[in-house]
Amino acid sequence: MLLPVRCFTCGAPLGHLWDEFKRRVQAGENPSKVLDDLGVHRYCCRSVMISSVSYIEEIALYYIVRARRLRAEGEVR
Ligand SMILES: [Zn+2]
Repeated sequence: MLLPVRCFTCGAPLGHLWDEFKRRVQAGENPSKVLDDLGVHRYCCRSVMISSVSYIEEIALYYIVRARRLRAEGEVR
């Protein structure tokens, strides 16, 4: 999933907050405090930010492995 651009419920823009939220949470800060600092107070927006999982990097690894496998087998796509 890509980053959440807008809240799915109220439509508030959230995409500009995603990088800072992700960076600070990965650094060990409490997600609730980070959302307070970023001014995300509605529970619908908070749930979008907290529940979003960025798995595009993981999915991309499968495509890389698949491409290598196809190349090794002689199929080029
Ligand atoms: Zn919202």
